[in-house]
Amino acid sequence: MSIHCEQSPAATAIIDTAALAQNLVVARRMAHGARCMAVVKANAYGHGLVECARALSGADALAVARLSEAKTLRHAHATDLPIVVLDGALSADETSEAVALGCELVVHSDHQLQWLEAAEQVPSTIWLKVNTGMNRLGWAPAAVAQAYARIVAKAPEVDVRFSTHFASADDPDAEQTDEQLQRWQDLSRPENATISLSNSAALVRELGLRAPTNALAWVRPGLLLYGATPFGSGDATDLGLTPVMNFESSVIAVQRLRTGDRVGYGGGYTAAQDMRIGVVAAGYGDGYPCQMPAGTPVLVDGRNCMLAGRVSMDMLSVDLTGAPEAQVGSRVRLWGQELPVERVARHANTIAWELLTRVSARVERVFT
Ligand SMILES: *Cc1c(COP(=O)(O)O)cnc(C)c1O
Repeated sequence: MSIHCEQSPAATAIIDTAALAQNLVVARRMAHGARCMAVVKANAYGHGLVECARALSGADALAVARLSEAKTLRHAHATDLPIVVLDGALSADETSEAVALGCELVVHSDHQLQWLEAAEQVPSTIWLKVNTGMNRLGWAPAAVAQAYARIVAKAPEVDVRFSTHFASADDPDAEQTDEQLQRWQDLSRPENATISLSNSAALVRELGLRAPTNALAWVRPGLLLYGATPFGSGDATDLGLTPVMNFESSVIAVQRLRTGDRVGYGGGYTAAQDMRIGVVAAGYGDGYPCQMPAGTPVLVDGRNCMLAGRVSMDMLSVDLTGAPEAQVGSRVRLWGQELPVERVARHANTIAWELLTRVSARVERVFT
């Protein structure tokens, strides 16, 4: 895909909604008949909640972290799909509000269960969250049967489902995953219960998916829908996925440096020879991290260049040696197609999830 010349010269996130929908098709293929809840929390991983929800209408449900996100979706009439609130209600009020919004709630704790028991109405579907070893949210396996019994006592008509979350699914060598799977298998739960285990990494690795029972399973991909890999090496394109966000800006000034000249705050970058530097309208105020080191790849007019000097709030500097034709107005891609966000993340010792979600509010999202 070519770089869009008609875009604003400032930092812009160009969102390829067709790629998002296509990545969902790829995820479904990986799920072998399991149903798919598309995770759109945190502004759809920075891509734009409402528009992405619309593009993901082919999912079986959407999942958010907070009730406020579900409210935004419902008020915008962005979806008719069920919405699962992954963290569940954070107060008694949220419990009744979730019911009014037609949301499905995760119930992971005794206080959430008490709010439910005290509520006039309960959700039609409740996901009991089991702590199989991540020790973030959920009931200890030994406490699950009683929590289940309390829900049934309160509202026998509720569809109670069972879920857990892997701590290390992105690491194929992690023994922790086997321990978690073992605890999950040992769990006493009703036969033919509906279950959900897999985030993106677990889905790719088919953890917990087994052919005859997949009809009862739900997968919960997030990152892979946005076209990034959850693993520590390789690119999403290896998995048949397409990056959804192209984070772009343009050159707004060019500096000609002599050997020994310095660049940016603190003068931390010194020109090793005469060179041209492109100043780009994107900085940490747009979500491009200040910690990004010199040498991080950047595409200028589609050519490989490198970051030079410290990223400031509204601008960053690029060594234009790789793009001799570049000038004011040249398009710059910070990540996206041909420059995977996961590769950029590895340069700053961070993860693709964080880079995507921290793209800031002032960055215009353009949906194509
Ligand atoms: C965020 C989240 C997911 C999605 O995780 P990815 O790694 O982005 O696929 C799945 N399940 C739960 C409970 C989550 O919080």
